[in-house]
Amino acid sequence: MERLFTRGRTIMGRLQKGDDLLSSLQRICSGLEIAQGELSAIGAVTCARIGYYDQAERKYAFLHLSRHLEILSLMGNVSLKDGVAFVHAHVVLGDESGRAFGGHLAEGTEVFACEFTVREFLTETPLRRSMDEETGLFLWGEDG
Ligand code: ZN
Repeated sequence: MERLFTRGRTIMGRLQKGDDLLSSLQRICSGLEIAQGELSAIGAVTCARIGYYDQAERKYAFLHLSRHLEILSLMGNVSLKDGVAFVHAHVVLGDESGRAFGGHLAEGTEVFACEFTVREFLTETPLRRSMDEETGLFLWGEDG
């Protein structure tokens, strides 16, 4: 399934040291009432929590990295879940030797510095997340 969008607002900003990375992006998007869009960010974190979805077990396993890391790349999207803006983001984080860790961004990732861009997309029939029985994930549905 797919949708056609036109461009809406573009927002650039910076998060504060100590912010929770995912919660802050979530708060900004819901505050701006963004129904769908994409987001990207770069910066650094003081610790991270990233998830891996176990397809057989149908649940997330989380990795907690208690170390300082660069946000080499954060990309994600925004869509409606239960009527409010929901951020789904993945991150690649780099250490001092250039090695990378990556996964599904989870709460518990603390900002050292972060510059983000949110691009809003507009459409008449917004994407909505609903439970997909085949995967066990909240995915964009045919009906919404
Ligand atoms: Zn994910």
